[in-house]
Amino acid sequence: MTAAAPMSGGCQCGAVRYRATGELGYPHLCHCRMCQKAAGSYFMPMAAIARSDFALTRSDPTWFHSSDLVRRGFCGICGTPLFYEMPGADFINITLGSLDDPQAVRPVAQSNTGRKVPWFHELDGLPIEAADGMPDRENAIAASNHQHPDHDTASWPSGASS
Ligand SMILES: [Zn+2]
Ligand SMILES: [Zn+2]
Repeated sequence: MTAAAPMSGGCQCGAVRYRATGELGYPHLCHCRMCQKAAGSYFMPMAAIARSDFALTRSDPTWFHSSDLVRRGFCGICGTPLFYEMPGADFINITLGSLDDPQAVRPVAQSNTGRKVPWFHELDGLPIEAADGMPDRENAIAASNHQHPDHDTASWPSGASS
């Protein structure tokens, strides 16, 4: 499944924003150990966009060469993992959780399942926590939210927003 463009996304703090005006190809979950580490999670969800259809719309990411063949882009301020790039390739991979509308792109495959956590398939069956019953704390978080909203903004930082 591929998604229609344009799509926008960015990091949690909003310092790095991007726009994809073409089709996102091969959305998948990579379970390799490097993606686990780079995501701080059990897998990395990614899809490819042609470089000609991709643009950074705010500041540049910070890059880490996880090997000689691959570099990974993340926000140097808030740390959100954003890109997986093979220098010289005519496409770049973007992390699907960083899209403004992550539900818009549905993964179609998994890779490097040799490192997949063995209880991955059980995650959806975990007991569900009750709402925490601390409305004051929830309200304080909402009132002091520093996360960039899920859409492009004219200026940054824009303060608390929804
Ligand atoms: Zn950021
Ligand atoms: Zn990987």
